[in-house]
Amino acid sequence: MENSKNNQSLKTIFVTGGVVSSLGKGICASIISGLLSARGFTTKLKKIDPYLNVDPGTLSPLEHGEVFVTEDGMEADLDLGHYERLGNSKTSKNDYITAGSIYQKILTKERKGLYEGKTVQVVPHFTTELKKAIFKGTEGYDFLICEIGGTVGDIENIAILETIRQIKAQENNVISAHVALMPYLSKAGEWKTKPIQHSIRDLLSYGIQTDILLCRMENENKENWKEKLSLLSNIKKENIFKALDAKSIYHAMLAYEEESICERVLQIFNLEKREKDLTFLTNYVNTIEKDLPKIDIAIVGKYVQCKDAYKSVEEALYHAAIANNIHANLHIINAEELKEEDLKNMHGIFIPGGFGKRAIDGKIKAIAYAKNNNIPLLGMCLGMQLSIIEALKSIFPEADSTEFTPNTPDPVVFKLSEWKKEDKTITLGENLGGTMRLGSYKSTLVENTLTKSLYNSEFLIERHRHRYVFNNKYKDFLEKVGLTISAYTSDNLVEAVERKDCDFFITGQFHAEFNSTIKKPNSLFLGFLKAIKNRL
Ligand code: GLN
Repeated sequence: MENSKNNQSLKTIFVTGGVVSSLGKGICASIISGLLSARGFTTKLKKIDPYLNVDPGTLSPLEHGEVFVTEDGMEADLDLGHYERLGNSKTSKNDYITAGSIYQKILTKERKGLYEGKTVQVVPHFTTELKKAIFKGTEGYDFLICEIGGTVGDIENIAILETIRQIKAQENNVISAHVALMPYLSKAGEWKTKPIQHSIRDLLSYGIQTDILLCRMENENKENWKEKLSLLSNIKKENIFKALDAKSIYHAMLAYEEESICERVLQIFNLEKREKDLTFLTNYVNTIEKDLPKIDIAIVGKYVQCKDAYKSVEEALYHAAIANNIHANLHIINAEELKEEDLKNMHGIFIPGGFGKRAIDGKIKAIAYAKNNNIPLLGMCLGMQLSIIEALKSIFPEADSTEFTPNTPDPVVFKLSEWKKEDKTITLGENLGGTMRLGSYKSTLVENTLTKSLYNSEFLIERHRHRYVFNNKYKDFLEKVGLTISAYTSDNLVEAVERKDCDFFITGQFHAEFNSTIKKPNSLFLGFLKAIKNRL
């Protein structure tokens, strides 16, 4: 059997979920990574999702929440955002795997005849391909923490669990952590360990013995639940941890630290204890606890039914608020039903990215409101396109994006491929996936702009996910309608604009929200929150 792990000193933790979905496995995995990283270990976090989509690029944010974009241009599950923010692990194309992407590889090989007439099967072909993907790019790391999407017991998960069983049997230094819900029956006044027992037994039926158990509980459980679970589930008591609901994911991280989970992980792998530096975390949590001025920010979006659709935006706004010593209350407002009153008491307005025509009018209305009432506004991606359309409508009443009105007489925003056709000299970089501009690109900041002073650099480097761009034919009209270009891509595309007649009005063709952590909040978000604070 092919050995897929090249890095023999790599310690691997597979994280599965049990009893119910939405337990925050990704957060648990990220916290363990973050705590290891605070002790100087290098960690790589990965996720394997059991669904058959090749990647989530085509999924609506209403399905699984926001689509996160890695620096190298992969459209991935939002958990990868937690990996970067909490886990301190930069993600890449190698770090998000779907069952669909593995099947795609296998079927491509099969069509090319590379299996030399053999029957192509889940074992060994799927499992071998998945093993390669799991260990790809882990060279040089101390730890690999790999999260398995879904819940143990799902039909879709079986082939993935079989792969993990094989890895545990074949490789050294591989353990399994199970995150499962312990429900409380208020009528009976009891915590119930039975669903967890079943979940662990389920995992065992696939040949995987749980090594570490994290019990998700709503409140503190005073009963002898650890003894009971240890006895009935073959797990040492000291390997069972409580994972309580917390005020924030950063509070949860501190709570895990108090449980000494990291020390236990090190013991299991026979590693020495190390000094840790968690001051960044304690400072952040202490500031959250302070009584600080409160401000309200409207996120004028459209994927309002899913609470995770704007995850990175919310995180970036919180990071910047705490760094400015203020508390931000975020209000996700459905642009389709937007009324002016909704914005009346807002200290700031945020226009997030989005796809398709629905809810465009409401977002344009919010942009006009911010402009006319001098309310600080930050807009990302679609937010920039709409801020330009809103402004140019004063000269070209039918100004629009060809995304919404393909035959508009004034396509002020049009497809990237149209721009490519007009200027044959440009190259769009290797990250161009199909017609989409994806991943990190460096752009040049323009002198004497607020955008430049916020980045305090010659360049900005942010992540992208878009198919449409500003049409440079209309460039000369921007100044006339009050917009100043504040950044250009290397291909001379407009990357950011700002209004000098407002306290803060910046919109960019990128997604700055993907580059924000509590250690290093994003410069644009910091500036936005600072401007809001200065007006209090
Ligand atoms: N729909 C727009 C485009 O494709 C904006 C995309 C976004 O906001 N991420 O360009």
